[in-house]
Amino acid sequence: MTEHPIRTRFAPSPTGMFHVGSARSALFNWALARQQDEGRFVLRIEDTDAARNKPEWTEGIVQALAWLGIGDSDPHFEGPYFQSSYAGKHRETAERLYKEGRAYYCDCTREQVQERRDNPNLGYDGFCRDRGLEPGPGRALRFRVPEGGPTVVEDAIRGRVEFDHTSIEDFVIARADGSPLFALANVVDDVEMGITQVVRGEEHLSNTPKQQLLWQALGHTPPGWAHLPVIVNEKRQKLSKRRDKVALEAYQQEGFLPEAMVNYLMLLGWSPGEDREIMPWSQMEPLFAVSDVNSSSAFFDEKKLRAFNGEYIRALATEEFIDRCRPWLDPEVAPWPEEGYDEDAFRAIAPLAQSRVAVLSEIVANVDFLFLDEPVFDEQSWTKAMKPGVGAEMLSAALERFADPGLAWEAEALKTALEEVGQSHGLKLGKAQAPVRVAVTGRSVGLPLFESLELLGRGRTRQRIDAALARLNA
Ligand code: GLU
Repeated sequence: MTEHPIRTRFAPSPTGMFHVGSARSALFNWALARQQDEGRFVLRIEDTDAARNKPEWTEGIVQALAWLGIGDSDPHFEGPYFQSSYAGKHRETAERLYKEGRAYYCDCTREQVQERRDNPNLGYDGFCRDRGLEPGPGRALRFRVPEGGPTVVEDAIRGRVEFDHTSIEDFVIARADGSPLFALANVVDDVEMGITQVVRGEEHLSNTPKQQLLWQALGHTPPGWAHLPVIVNEKRQKLSKRRDKVALEAYQQEGFLPEAMVNYLMLLGWSPGEDREIMPWSQMEPLFAVSDVNSSSAFFDEKKLRAFNGEYIRALATEEFIDRCRPWLDPEVAPWPEEGYDEDAFRAIAPLAQSRVAVLSEIVANVDFLFLDEPVFDEQSWTKAMKPGVGAEMLSAALERFADPGLAWEAEALKTALEEVGQSHGLKLGKAQAPVRVAVTGRSVGLPLFESLELLGRGRTRQRIDAALARLNA
């Protein structure tokens, strides 16, 4: 039992789209905070890099978190705080470190530092350590890394990680203009906000010894550290925004359900054990432990995510599924004319679609044939289904059979009818129905054909077959 309730934080910089890796960090921190009544998750927007920040990115962070179920309607949530509003505290702290002799001013230019080195990759050589420079123009403030060492970072995921002090340069904590650098601002804020546990991406591990030294120099016990494994694509390359689909928003727009996304993201480096994978957040949350996170890279497998999503979609009540489809049915974005949409037809076909789509956006291609004046033909499907000797013959025969007023216009009867038509042409149902499907829906794959025809109605079905015949003969 910890003495103080846990305080985790999520500290994104608002410099781009919200990354799936950030989403995972946020969720892990959220689970830890929610495990204790008094646990808190602090959202801190690290907006000190004014040149790269944009208010819409901040807005995007808040929205993305809300979509994942993390937000201020929950008492475990605290913030958002903005790093820029703590600038005074950052400067004050830098000054204090200088006054206490834990930091010193340095007027070396980058070129000078490089010139003194044979190896340009080595860090700062401590040239100004004992020069006793006062603050002044062109002088940056460097932290005096103590002699001795090593600094040992106890990482909950990686165990003990040792950093020899000869490998930690006297790093800059404030620029010549007084503005703080990441290492300092991030620690000052964590101290101020009483953070007890830092859970963040592996790319920050190299900052951690410096930051731990800062915590100690400021007279505070460092927090628990945990550095999450990188997320890689199928080629084992670190996910990159230039190459990979990394924006959470892209998944949202494609119709991934937040609950499926949350479930999948939680498995990037962690597992609830016993081979369990599909598990709702409410069950995962109490099981999550940062010490159970794996240190090896985590593969972001979109295929698996899609499979998860399909399962979550199928588990929805039909009414709920219909509601979740709404954004894609909106006349502003849907491909059909507003007056073409028929709510009753949609409600009737929704259960068939629900059992088949992997992402909600697929609903459109599954139902558009009902609401468009005429189908949009997929040329490949067309060529394949309308082969000479099959296409026109089947369409003509079906057109005639469907004209029979004695044929009840319902799925079972339509199936039998088309089966018979196929037989008389020496074709199995699968082959016989292909031209009809393409003529009516535009595609060779879709929802069960006879239910679709039933909904479309006799008149429109025949009209489309007729139009397809004309297209074939043209
Ligand atoms: N603003 C930093 C980032 O986005 C925060 C790192 C941290 O969590 O300490 O990477």
